[in-house]
Amino acid sequence: MHYTAAQLKHPIFKIMQQAADELGVEAYAVGGFVRDLILERPSKDIDFVCVGSGIELATKAASIIDPKLHVSVFKNFGTAHFRWNDWDFEFVGARKESYQRDSRKPIVEEGTLEDDQNRRDFTINALAISMNAASYGKLVDPFNGVQDMEDKIIRTPLDPDITFSDDPLRMMRAIRFATQLGFTIHTDTLASIKKNAERISIISQERITDELNKIILARTPSIGFILLEETGLLKRILPEMQNLKGVENYEGKGHKDNFYHTLQVLDNITKTTNDLWLRWAAILHDIAKPPTKKFVPGEGWTFHGHEVLGSKWVPNIFRRLKLPLGNEMKFVRKMVYLHLRPIALTKEEISDSALRRLLFEAGDDIESLLMLCEADITSKNRDKVRRYLMKFEIVREKLKEVEEKDRVRNFQPPVSGELIMETFGIQPCKEVGIIKDEIKEAVLEGKIRNDYEEAYAMMLELGTKLGLQKKE
Ligand code: ATP
Ligand code: MG
Repeated sequence: MHYTAAQLKHPIFKIMQQAADELGVEAYAVGGFVRDLILERPSKDIDFVCVGSGIELATKAASIIDPKLHVSVFKNFGTAHFRWNDWDFEFVGARKESYQRDSRKPIVEEGTLEDDQNRRDFTINALAISMNAASYGKLVDPFNGVQDMEDKIIRTPLDPDITFSDDPLRMMRAIRFATQLGFTIHTDTLASIKKNAERISIISQERITDELNKIILARTPSIGFILLEETGLLKRILPEMQNLKGVENYEGKGHKDNFYHTLQVLDNITKTTNDLWLRWAAILHDIAKPPTKKFVPGEGWTFHGHEVLGSKWVPNIFRRLKLPLGNEMKFVRKMVYLHLRPIALTKEEISDSALRRLLFEAGDDIESLLMLCEADITSKNRDKVRRYLMKFEIVREKLKEVEEKDRVRNFQPPVSGELIMETFGIQPCKEVGIIKDEIKEAVLEGKIRNDYEEAYAMMLELGTKLGLQKKE
């Protein structure tokens, strides 16, 4: 098969032809770009491989574009990179790799195009397109990658036991591509992942988490998690999630399988948000159900306090997975902690103070919380889901009304700690906290309005009760 100049639209290709022929080296576009070209997926970067020095090829190509264009050279790796018009171009010399058992670091030697294709992870990632004039546009597909794309199959080019044992990260990549592309992992390849799963332990957490996040950001992340579970990878990278799987029966009563429920919530939320952290909140919302599970006669299965315990686990899970510990973690922790609250509001007569409290605690994240709760409504009974969603609309409306009336969402108590200290001529002490807290409670309970005058009066009253005196 041959690609024509019209199909290889980007101006870089003509430049590559000139550069390769002037240097007299074989050069190819390879890997992800070729795969995505065939699958008609967009790309923003292209990798080039040459049988010779990738650094020289990069320097030559850049000088044809613009002698001033900056090329980053990584001598130790024999690679080079430049950016041009928002596209990234990577250059590397064709290589042959050999691995030792307990390391990801291969011994690298110069090699042929064939050697280079052999070391790639999957048949669909091992395609190359020639850049040299004599064979320009020729597709080199030694492992029938095109056929595998047609059949939607992920498969390693060599014996999968060798490919995965050489670099166990490829097991995560297999599942990631299956999830992103909606492909099936070939039986032999899948069996080999099961067999080699424990080798994931030699891979750095950052790289594992990178792949995991790509799975989570795919259109149907559950595909990836089901594969992670099935292959034995999940229990090694996120054992808390593995523990959600399974149903216990007591006196003929079972509960839902919280693993599949969680995946349903994750797929649901994926339809309404691209935000990685809200998707993480969906993954972790019920994470502490196993240790809080109890069978209560007359009531059935209960998971009291799972939202509190789960939110306490979030920092540890984030730390272990090397996920960011700043606002992202705090957001997820808060979502897990609050995830039952909006649903609780559908069950009773809704009081304004309950609504105000939720608005106050959720703050600017109220919309995300409501999205999570809607995603959390899962049941095989379609009618039940519809009824819940309707009740939920009412909660949404009421929250809006209360917010418009009372403005408690970004609530700052109408009197500050400084004002309290100044008024009574005191230093920071526990009385200041007591007064502030009681005023906040009174506003949320609706005993006073969210208003300076009323709060000021209440402050004086509380001060007197506590034996403080207004400074003249
Ligand atoms: P994406 O850019 O969407 O992550 P990609 O396939 O381009 O997908 P990259 O990590 O950019 O992935 O890698 C580019 C190419 O390098 C791949 O297509 C593959 O041929 C090769 N490659 C990357 N990582 C590995 C690996 N761990 N083992 C073998 N080959 C790899
Ligand atoms: Mg890429």
